[in-house]
Amino acid sequence: MRLNSHRRLKFVSLMFVAVTLVAQTASTPQATGKPEAKANAPSRGAAARSASAEPVPRMPVDPQIAAAIREISAARIRAIIEKLVSFNSRNSLGSGDPTLKEKGQGVVAAREWIKSEFERYSAECGGCLEVHVDSFIQPPGERIPKPTEMTNVYAVLRGSDPDAAKRMVLVTGHYDTIVLTPLKPGEEPPLSEPGKPAPVNPGSVDLIAQAPGANDDGSGTAVSLECARVLSKHRFPGTIIFLTVPGEEQGLNGSLHFARMAKQEGWNLIAALNNDIVGGNRTPGDTGRNPRRVRVFSEGLPLAADTAEIRRIRRYGWENDSPSRQVARYISDVGRAYLPKFRFMPEMIFRADRFGRGGDHTSFNREGFAAVRLTEDREDLNHQHQYVRTENGIEYGDLPKFVDFDYTANVARVNAATLASLASGPPPPANVRINMRAPGNSTTLTWDAVPEGVSVEVLWRLTTAPDWQHARNVGRETRAVVDESKDNVMFAVRAVDKNGHRSLAVIPRPSGRERRVTYEE
Ligand SMILES: [Zn+2]
Repeated sequence: MRLNSHRRLKFVSLMFVAVTLVAQTASTPQATGKPEAKANAPSRGAAARSASAEPVPRMPVDPQIAAAIREISAARIRAIIEKLVSFNSRNSLGSGDPTLKEKGQGVVAAREWIKSEFERYSAECGGCLEVHVDSFIQPPGERIPKPTEMTNVYAVLRGSDPDAAKRMVLVTGHYDTIVLTPLKPGEEPPLSEPGKPAPVNPGSVDLIAQAPGANDDGSGTAVSLECARVLSKHRFPGTIIFLTVPGEEQGLNGSLHFARMAKQEGWNLIAALNNDIVGGNRTPGDTGRNPRRVRVFSEGLPLAADTAEIRRIRRYGWENDSPSRQVARYISDVGRAYLPKFRFMPEMIFRADRFGRGGDHTSFNREGFAAVRLTEDREDLNHQHQYVRTENGIEYGDLPKFVDFDYTANVARVNAATLASLASGPPPPANVRINMRAPGNSTTLTWDAVPEGVSVEVLWRLTTAPDWQHARNVGRETRAVVDESKDNVMFAVRAVDKNGHRSLAVIPRPSGRERRVTYEE
């Protein structure tokens, strides 16, 4: 556009007026006509100060939960692991060999002992646990040469409040074990032909060889049992399930069977905590381990998300905010509140699992449930799936002597405090929305009214921060306006009861019809 000098002057004047008007509108919150604008009146600097003055409060310690986790015993955990090891091998394929049970060995004898333990705990609490066995036939697969009976064994501590009891939390470990024939130097792993099951590793069908599985996953099974023992002495409004599964080593069979049942029956399962290899690795000479840390793996992109949901995740930057990751953050909160006395901390790993490896939490993720994996700080592969032997002065085998029972007790405390906190907490606010239409530097969030005695906490953090940095309790309001642009931070909302028990955090969904975004076309 060409302008003569007169026109140019007029244009510049118009521009000046326009800019002034925009500036006035922006600096006069009342001009928006929204009641919340007044609350947003402070300047940007003041807003930043007020945000930093709203740190996330530490989760209050519930005396009942603190008492329960003090009862967790490293000696009990040791006794459980040594008993599991005494069955020689807990290979899931052993259910097809009746001679093993006659000798008091194998997976069937092991699962019957687990069931008897749950029943013993239940007898001590006046029958408070519902003890279940759920058998099914697993068809042949990569490590299953013929149809094999498998059995999940679990106990349910039903919630004391009829409504809250519908919300369930779960802890699990796999009680099966396996030894695998190691590859020789330069040997390639066997590959399956298309349409056929992969060749079975001869080691995986070895039912005679000792497969102690003290750490993998006697430790996780012990966590589930010990949580059942101590928590069954208390009552919680929500329901807690203590699960032990077989077939993890054959392809996550027990957990997948259980997760599918939970999905089909429409359970409101809010979190599954999978403990696999939580023995702490006491290998002599390993100076690299940190005995005060347990890793908590959580998926970023939910395995069960459909294409539309993946598109939404991409659009709104929710890669770091799956429901499983909110469970991981909750575990971190629990750790900060309950574990300092034990000088122990969960550490979030923003990854579904370790490279090239899997676990039972994946079965729950696959069925659309939030689930995480807890695993020791630093693994030693000489003590996983190995034939028990000494070679070139190195001891191989998953033996109890390499397990740090005090470490596993601390992992059990993290689990028990998380289960009990979630089972004590209120339901999360429903229908949480973020107002997408109003552009600008403040953000409006809404949700449905919460029950009497419950308040709502709005959380936010920088997009680059791993955990929530700011919190504002807005009581029983159903709406909050925060002087932060939704473009710059992540928001969530959670419910808090009058004793400080918290729900899981909920990420707000966009309100109204979602706009199409050009780059997605
Ligand atoms: Zn395992």
